Amino acid sequence: MQRFPPMPEPDARPPREPSVAVVALGSNLGDRAGTLEAAADEIRRLPLVDEVVLSPVVRSVAVTLAGPDPSKPEYLNAVALVRTRLAPTVLLGYLHRIETEHGRERRERWGDRTLDLDIVAYGDLRSDDPRLTLPHPRAHERDFVLEPWLQIDPDAVLPGYGRVADLLAELRS
Ligand code: AMP
Repeated sequence: MQRFPPMPEPDARPPREPSVAVVALGSNLGDRAGTLEAAADEIRRLPLVDEVVLSPVVRSVAVTLAGPDPSKPEYLNAVALVRTRLAPTVLLGYLHRIETEHGRERRERWGDRTLDLDIVAYGDLRSDDPRLTLPHPRAHERDFVLEPWLQIDPDAVLPGYGRVADLLAELRS
């Protein structure tokens, strides 16, 4: 019987080990809770995503460039732990697509939005690239990120900043 050589690998690089990406979800327009759940499901269905753990939802006051603005619609926020072999920039590309599919318009920075998805951290990775800064430069000062994250991972550490429990306690002191 004729034997064929093995098929060549399309990509000679070894497969990437899974990492845990911490994704912050926020919405202050429309069916906010439904949008957060739908976005988590869409992340779950992405290629090379093994598992998504979604936190309980917390509420927060809208933050504008001028600071917190209680006259704006309130936010619902959650955090998802995403176990994935997607490269961080590829994951961010998919998150932008999910934002767009939920009607997000990138008109105004800090403006109202149906869906905001940020990568808070990707494993221990550090990056100061403005297109993808890791950890997210404002995550350490956002209780609406730290609190839901702590609820699903009591031992969570924000790389370069320390234990999430300590950061949250400091914010509230
Ligand atoms: P925003 O409008 O707040 O969602 O900001 C989106 C912009 O921030 C995009 O142009 C991203 O490329 C950039 N960005 C930088 N670091 C991050 C991050 N860690 N997560 C999400 N977006 C980021």
